[in-house]
Amino acid sequence: MTPQRIVIIGGGFSGMTAAILLAEAGHAVDLIEIDADWRSYGAGISLNGGTFRVLARLGVLDAYKEVGALTDGVEIWGPADQLLARLPTPSLQEGATGNGGVMRPVLARLLAARTHAAGVNVRLGVSFAEIDDSADAARVTFSDGTAGEYDLVIGADGLYSATRGAIFPDAPKPRYIGQAVWRAVLPTPAQVKTVTMWMGPGVKVGINAVSDTDAYLFLTEHRPTNDHVPADTHLSALKALLDKFPSPTIRQVAAELGPHSQIVYRPLEQLLLPQPWYRGRVVLIGDAVHATTPHMAAGAMIGMEDAIVLAEELGRAAIPDALAAFQSRRWDRCRIVVENSGRLAEIELGHGTHEEHQRLMGQTLGALAQPI
Ligand SMILES: Cc1cc2nc3c(=O)[nH]c(=O)nc-3n(C[C@H](O)[C@H](O)[C@H](O)COP(=O)(O)OP(=O)(O)OC[C@H]3O[C@@H](n4cnc5c(N)ncnc54)[C@H](O)[C@@H]3O)c2cc1C
Repeated sequence: MTPQRIVIIGGGFSGMTAAILLAEAGHAVDLIEIDADWRSYGAGISLNGGTFRVLARLGVLDAYKEVGALTDGVEIWGPADQLLARLPTPSLQEGATGNGGVMRPVLARLLAARTHAAGVNVRLGVSFAEIDDSADAARVTFSDGTAGEYDLVIGADGLYSATRGAIFPDAPKPRYIGQAVWRAVLPTPAQVKTVTMWMGPGVKVGINAVSDTDAYLFLTEHRPTNDHVPADTHLSALKALLDKFPSPTIRQVAAELGPHSQIVYRPLEQLLLPQPWYRGRVVLIGDAVHATTPHMAAGAMIGMEDAIVLAEELGRAAIPDALAAFQSRRWDRCRIVVENSGRLAEIELGHGTHEEHQRLMGQTLGALAQPI
């Protein structure tokens, strides 16, 4: 393998994973991140079994176990704590279960330390101004006035990717799906033993552990228009939504919510970029190309898997063949996550039955358990 000069635009979960694997494969990797403080917002994130396969590949599974949670199976309850279904989540990685959760900044810090240790040249507070792609190299001009020549540019800059805009100016825009999600952090209720979801009228609540002691609550709400929700109304609005659930567990959680609960509100958008996912020497990974709603808790996983597959294909073939092979291995798996998550949202908005919801979740978990 000839070492390549690679720049990764975006230091989220996808970009960091690509940076670590490509640097360790012997490439010269620059990672540019627009946020000078390399922050990740303070919400919990649920992790699918396949994510632990990725963390093991990065050598950070043991470190994850020190700071995050591993759980087993998903329980679906009615609004008054009636058990509706128990979905298995088989382990896909020795030493891990099929499910888990962690605070986003905790996972981001763990991966950032690993990125530095892999010898990646990390440049914070930097974006790009222009990508001039030619047959020999891509010349990238950065926002701080510097420039570099690269064999490969990887756009890992998320849902509103400027890299996507630069190479595919006519790409579809992210679509608001009519649902928003609330999240909060709380001590794990004693009744919650694994990821637990309560299905209410037009509203779904879930609780998932993020450490030995704490959990995060997520609540998806039907919201036909994407209006601004002022931060000073978040606590009362979330409590009002939880009022729809007679469940004693939810009542207890609602009573304990307060200004300390790190409440975050986010409208849900999705985007599946039609193929191709690359042009010339520029390729897109993660949310830049397949931004899913969180209904399968698999967005971070598929972005990190992209990085594994891209690194493997770059080890086997030159550009553009490696990029074509990357795209063809990733398309169907990522499409399933985005489309099935979108359908789960529609069902939650009243366009389907609980039975279809459970069946689709089970089928999708089965598909995601396949090798990548
Ligand atoms: C409400 C919500 C809940 C979710 N919950 C889950 C969940 O429970 N489980 C799960 O697996 N997934 C979940 N997801 C999806 C998951 O968050 C994303 O799929 C994942 O974060 C994508 O990672 P990424 O690295 O591709 O993109 P991002 O996380 O968006 O990272 C992009 C990075 O690029 C940087 N950047 C942006 N523009 C530039 C630029 N021009 N130059 C340089 N840097 C730039 C950003 O600062 C950021 O650091 C959820 C998504 C949402 C919206």
